[in-house]
Amino acid sequence: MIIVILGAQGSGKGTVGVKVAEELGLVHISTGDIFRENIKNETELGKEANTYILAGNLVPDELTNRILMDRLSREDVLEKGAMIDGYPRTEKQCYDLDAMLANIDRKVDLAINLDVDYDELISRITTRRVCKSCKEGYNTEYNPPKVEGVCDKCGGPVVQRDDDKEDAVRQRLDIYYANAEVVLNHYAKDGKLRVEKAGDKIGRTSKEVTADLIRDLK
Ligand code: AMP
Repeated sequence: MIIVILGAQGSGKGTVGVKVAEELGLVHISTGDIFRENIKNETELGKEANTYILAGNLVPDELTNRILMDRLSREDVLEKGAMIDGYPRTEKQCYDLDAMLANIDRKVDLAINLDVDYDELISRITTRRVCKSCKEGYNTEYNPPKVEGVCDKCGGPVVQRDDDKEDAVRQRLDIYYANAEVVLNHYAKDGKLRVEKAGDKIGRTSKEVTADLIRDLK
């Protein structure tokens, strides 16, 4: 089975995707994680991708498709199937993914959209904090450090990432929503889209979404 998991930054799709993939025995593939791994290892691909990522832009399709096709062609995906996170992000990528999967005799079986209210996404992301030294994550509302601004684990400074500040978050979400509709329609028109609403406003946590998906898909 091939699943794509869609949703804005802060929707919880990363956490839900990893857990559901684990329970269903699917290989979890995140294009963002592959780029970050390459950047950490200072590969040529990582260096090239990083110029776009640092500027807050999408990495060109030529490069992104190359890393994804490379990952999809490995034996484990053919054996177990995959949960794809971070791709497709544009209409063209929807068609590119269909073509890549056709290459390995597969298709998208299901697209899951994690739908969280816009204001809640803003609040979830803007309350995020991170330790500058050890990268431990905090949240000013749900999980603040014991001493404000000081990491519980290493004593380093706990700060807000620049791209988690409200203006930057709104910009990122605007880019996401500008493309989201066509991507969702691509799957909806074939009856492959499953929308999962979540968030405090409707009283449904990511954990509940995860449990429902596992129950229905296992
Ligand atoms: P993410 O962790 O999914 O937000 O990905 C981090 C960054 O990697 C994004 O901001 C993009 O620059 C790049 N990236 C990840 N997936 C894609 C994609 N499907 N197309 C283009 N760029 C991508």
